[in-house]
Amino acid sequence: MSKQENFFQLSPQGFENFITEELKQKKFVAKQVLDWVYQKKVFDFSLMTNLKKDLREILQERFKFEVPNVVYQLKAADHSTIKVTLELSDKKQIETVFMKEDRGVTICISSQVGCAQKCIFCATGKMYGLRNLQAHEIVGQIIALQEMLGDKFPENFRVVYMGMGEPLNNINQVFKSLEILTDSKGFNIGSRKITMSTSGVVKGIYRLADRFPQVQLAISLHTVDEQLRKKWVPNQKETVKEILQAARDFIKTTGRKITFELVLFGGSQVSTSKLNLLGKALKGIHCNVNAIPYNPIEDGPQYLTRPTHQEVEYFKDIMSKWHREITVRVSRGRDIQAACGQLAIKNS
Ligand code: SF4
Repeated sequence: MSKQENFFQLSPQGFENFITEELKQKKFVAKQVLDWVYQKKVFDFSLMTNLKKDLREILQERFKFEVPNVVYQLKAADHSTIKVTLELSDKKQIETVFMKEDRGVTICISSQVGCAQKCIFCATGKMYGLRNLQAHEIVGQIIALQEMLGDKFPENFRVVYMGMGEPLNNINQVFKSLEILTDSKGFNIGSRKITMSTSGVVKGIYRLADRFPQVQLAISLHTVDEQLRKKWVPNQKETVKEILQAARDFIKTTGRKITFELVLFGGSQVSTSKLNLLGKALKGIHCNVNAIPYNPIEDGPQYLTRPTHQEVEYFKDIMSKWHREITVRVSRGRDIQAACGQLAIKNS
């Protein structure tokens, strides 16, 4: 028997090609199977009763429906957030976060086990055993949540690639997962409901603009001080100047507004001169600025502190003089280490 392929590794278009080219079947047969999987959530070919028996057997032999296993779930005290630990087939673990917000549900998915960028304030960057996730492991996080929550899983939701890993360092698999999520015969999620968050992988930003121009872009910039950024995101090859240019080019190509994310620390980062430098650098760029007060992590540098309420207010004051759209985000799930930068599997 040939080695079974994971069904969720194929895009709907890829599956249709397989059905028409390899099996010499009509296109509508692919549509029937895709309907069973993505509409009816039936992950067993033998139950796809409108398919011929011999075709069901061929498909059964060729494909498996394997999704990551839920090994642990942690609910925030206010029930707004569930952090789920998932185990992959090689026993490595990743985390996915389900967040209920005023505007609806957002699912924060991981793209890698660990992260090579190693931002000094991020728990994921401190994990060992880095590897890229396959497309089926990326979309499989959403399916695992669907199975876990059953009727409670929402019809509509947003997806953010903001969990473990730098998605644009795993661009081929991430793009494949986007094909599966956005295809009307797949998950059918509007591209505008998907956000790609990057620490500033410039080549990836250009490729995203070209291939998925409707996907929202968020760049975790943190600071425009080159030396400081080098310290905070030590493995970033690109300079702040190059990242800002890629941001301008993305906006020009796609006509879309982007978001700059900043982890906001207390102390010197909120000095007038640093904030004015930031405001000046972003002037004229069609963007939102979204600041996230730092969530201290275990083993994080002692000198990085969470900003006080006054410092956050001061940040808002100065920045709004430069820019109209500033938000300071309340990180969901702080009490369960599900907030930004806190995702990590201790035993990886
Ligand atoms: S903040 Fe993002 S890019 Fe930086 S180490 Fe963590 S997961 Fe990677």
